[in-house]
Amino acid sequence: MGDKIYLSSPHMSDEGYEMQYIQEAFDTNWIAPLGKNVNEFEYGIAAKVGVKSAAALSSGTAAIHLALKAVGVGAGDIVFCPTLTFSATANPIIYQGAVPVFIDSDYETWNMSPVVLEKAFEKYPNVKAVLVVHLYGLSADMDKVVEVCKKRNVLLIEDAAESLGTYYKGKHTGTFGDYGIFSFNGNKIITTSGGGMLVSDNEEKIAKTRFWATQARDQARHYQHSELGFNYRMSNVVAGIGRGQLKVLDQRVAQKKYIFEFYKRELGQLEGVDFMPINEWNEPNYWLSVMTLSGKVRPLDVMEALERDNIESRPIWKPMHMQPFFAEYDYIGGDVSEKLFETGVCLPSDTKMTDSDLERICRIIKELWR
Ligand SMILES: *Cc1c(COP(=O)(O)O)cnc(C)c1O
Repeated sequence: MGDKIYLSSPHMSDEGYEMQYIQEAFDTNWIAPLGKNVNEFEYGIAAKVGVKSAAALSSGTAAIHLALKAVGVGAGDIVFCPTLTFSATANPIIYQGAVPVFIDSDYETWNMSPVVLEKAFEKYPNVKAVLVVHLYGLSADMDKVVEVCKKRNVLLIEDAAESLGTYYKGKHTGTFGDYGIFSFNGNKIITTSGGGMLVSDNEEKIAKTRFWATQARDQARHYQHSELGFNYRMSNVVAGIGRGQLKVLDQRVAQKKYIFEFYKRELGQLEGVDFMPINEWNEPNYWLSVMTLSGKVRPLDVMEALERDNIESRPIWKPMHMQPFFAEYDYIGGDVSEKLFETGVCLPSDTKMTDSDLERICRIIKELWR
């Protein structure tokens, strides 16, 4: 068996920026609460993606939760959500007592289909919010999604957990909607070990989410609360990792792109192999390299062959409408997301891989076509 290769593991900077910022937190005893690292990480992300304001939180899931709260989603409200995503997109809808309606993807983007979204509005005219996702670092077709939402006067939240560094027509994903969120979970393109960010041009609302995220303490000497609070803030130590990681984001995107192009070149000619769609208006961050298989070789064959040599890979997200927990909620669309789930494989996309690692992976996969 060869050395372990991960799907996507934490990759700290060669320069050790992360430890410098953590050391700073220790030296000044700003271990908690909040502090300079949190402030600078918020400024850094806001400046990087081009928004006015950002709130550093304990996870991407927490950021989605507070975004839903910020747009006023409450008990019984309907929220449109793509079916092809990680459960963390949909769970916070339930936290708010709201009702998800799942929307199919299209083959052009793998993300929420604007055509199906239109159709969904015909069935549910009274929708509180639309939650769009940019899967695997690909962008949804935002002009169309935004247009449908504007026409219906519905607020838009972007789950850009997987797409920090992705551009749609020259603008960062996460900045088209009323709110955007990013995740710094261990497997994302940059990580703080765990964490998230809520971004928006609405500075007042971001300040409000910071208030909710710190137990909703009113300004008073005693502990006074006029609203429901949460303990969702990012720690100053963890934010130090984020500040360091942000310095290498562009480098990670370039490495992820290199990995994708390596696979495409080496595996693209194999019968039945296709890759995730890269549209001309999209500059992805290539978080994961994903291929689909329509021939004799099945995704399970690839995943098992890689596993036998200690290499991690996995299927595409299993659609939410196929999940036992979400089965009771409505689903609108055809079988695009189901087909993608059946045929897709997420290939190892770890930025610490060398060319020889990539060659080893491709050799194992090509064997299956012999
Ligand atoms: C990772 C992820 C999340 C959740 O982020 P956490 O920081 O792990 O809570 C949400 N949505 C998508 C699409 C993700 O990939």
